[in-house]
Amino acid sequence: GLDDELKQAIRTIADYPKPGIMFRDITTLLGNARAFRRAVDQLVQPYAGAKIDQVAGIEARGFILGGAVAHQLSSGFVPIRKKGKLPHQTVRMAYALEYGTDEMEIHVDAIKPGERVVLVDDLIATGGTAEGAVKLLRQIGADVVAACFIIDLPELGGADKLRAMGVDVRTLVT
Ligand code: AMP
Repeated sequence: GLDDELKQAIRTIADYPKPGIMFRDITTLLGNARAFRRAVDQLVQPYAGAKIDQVAGIEARGFILGGAVAHQLSSGFVPIRKKGKLPHQTVRMAYALEYGTDEMEIHVDAIKPGERVVLVDDLIATGGTAEGAVKLLRQIGADVVAACFIIDLPELGGADKLRAMGVDVRTLVT
């Protein structure tokens, strides 16, 4: 099936970045022209014909996918970055990591109030990163229509957490 082709294009690295983590490496998918196209086509498919004003991508893999998705939807692209990287005035949000917290930022004027936004990242695990991103987007007035990811790790509950926030979640492989 189609999911199998995407799955086979993703490389798994055991014990990276630390013991016990199975790292899902999408660089092999990105380097496979057929799989990259297929993944982007599947991510945009539910929104074809919908008016999506902006695609927001989470640094760094969300930039690669989000740029391609935005182009296909004829929407703008908005980066959500680790703190200290964006040059203009920002809004900052703390988010949960496995141990402790980190902070992400968005330009304060990146979205016009009420604009319809789709959030993109490569993978959702606990959902802490995506939850922080949704809160940031809402804080600057976005209507967060959906969040989409290539990979879901469902046992970690992230997709359910986002759905409980009223976000439509779409993932391609589990
Ligand atoms: P989380 O906030 O727990 O949902 O983690 C999601 C973020 O961490 C995404 O930006 C992913 O790229 C990265 N991530 C978490 N777990 C993995 C994993 N097993 N393999 C690859 N990336 C991961």
